[in-house]
Amino acid sequence: MTRNAIQFQPGLSLVEFQARFGRDEQCIQALSRSRWPLGFECPECGGHRGHTLTTRPLMQCAVCRHQVSVTAGTIFHSTKLPLRVWFLAMHLLSQAKHSVSGLELSRQLGVSQTTAWSLKHKLMQVMMEREHGRRLHGRVEADDAYMGGERHEGRRGRGAPGKRPFILAVQTTPDGRPGLLQAQAVNNLGSTTMSRWAKKAISPAATLLTDEWAAYGITQATGLRHHAQKSPGGWRNSKVPAFKWVNTALGNLKGNIRGVCRWIGNQHLPRYLAEYQWRYNRRFDLASLLPRLLHAAARTPPMPIKLLYLAENAW
Ligand SMILES: [Zn+2]
Repeated sequence: MTRNAIQFQPGLSLVEFQARFGRDEQCIQALSRSRWPLGFECPECGGHRGHTLTTRPLMQCAVCRHQVSVTAGTIFHSTKLPLRVWFLAMHLLSQAKHSVSGLELSRQLGVSQTTAWSLKHKLMQVMMEREHGRRLHGRVEADDAYMGGERHEGRRGRGAPGKRPFILAVQTTPDGRPGLLQAQAVNNLGSTTMSRWAKKAISPAATLLTDEWAAYGITQATGLRHHAQKSPGGWRNSKVPAFKWVNTALGNLKGNIRGVCRWIGNQHLPRYLAEYQWRYNRRFDLASLLPRLLHAAARTPPMPIKLLYLAENAW
């Protein structure tokens, strides 16, 4: 598929979205179908017939009338918001070319900025859990960067006070097109961390291309083939053809995040990276994004706000 085909593919229009998920009843039904794809089973009597209530997210057994919460145990757990607001948030986040800022989300949904922030981060958590364990194969380009800071300058002293590094890697196809992407926040760029990153993120059969930063050399210990490309260092790395796709993605990712928030707390960086990764890895099929996000949300455990602040996913 060409790049234009990605850019111009039809997504789910707002009109279509409203027709399918504009009412709470429709959202409750969609969520219950997603939770019980093989059909409802009553935990009380084992009955297989049930119906959704129209006003509250509950499923009622047709045999014993036992009521089961449709949202319990999912990311929507004990929410006070109508499900149609959640669905609209999922639609906006999944269909956006870039991300959606908390302010924009609060305007579109008609909720406070605090509520919009928590909605957004819970959905980003869903994306993160969905992308957890993503491993790249074949030819893989990788580079590292700091969010909020400039690229590392030269080959020494890859450090920036208070800024958290991350590693971005893109798998390419035999005809030189970008495939899947992996974005991982790390605590540092030392040998031990890099080795752990390579083991988890890159298949041992892959060929990894990086610049000559010494720590990348350790990735050979995992058995994968590693090519260190001579590169000018700093921003000039973006001109090296071997790193074309990882640098394009890096530029987009930074622009994307800069566009939606001025500052990211280090503890939230993994979720912003995961959101980018989730969308990037599904860019060929915009129309299926909402059902896929819903499917994942129905299988993501509840995430209270205080946990969002503690959440850590660094290696
Ligand atoms: Zn029952």
